[in-house]
Amino acid sequence: MSESEKWKKINKSKEERPKVQEYKNWKELPPIPISLPIEGNMGTTGDWRTFRPIIDQENCNKCGFCWMYCPEGVIEKKEDGHFEIDLLYCKGCGICAKECPTKNIEMIRESDIKDG
Ligand code: SF4
Ligand code: SF4
Repeated sequence: MSESEKWKKINKSKEERPKVQEYKNWKELPPIPISLPIEGNMGTTGDWRTFRPIIDQENCNKCGFCWMYCPEGVIEKKEDGHFEIDLLYCKGCGICAKECPTKNIEMIRESDIKDG
């Protein structure tokens, strides 16, 4: 069964849906609407971040968990399969670092980063 057929079946009716749906990675997710960040009244929302998430790209397994869990939708998939964080809008909540299965995202205090 193709992926789209599988999702059509799962979404057919509430009764037929499994109680728990498990996803191995972001590729298994059905299409979902997400809101992309825009500048708010108080400026870019990354302005007041205390901790900055840094992805170790070399050791990233491209699973997409960070992308899936980021509540702000500020993690973008690049053409090479890696994920990049838009720091203009990242609030530094640390959820991506907490959910990364390989502990590949480090939260660094902004004041400890020399390039600002
Ligand atoms: S720190 Fe929070 S807002 Fe920033 S990329 Fe990670 S999950 Fe998204
Ligand atoms: S969750 Fe971690 S390993 Fe997975 S894509 Fe994001 S940074 Fe890479």
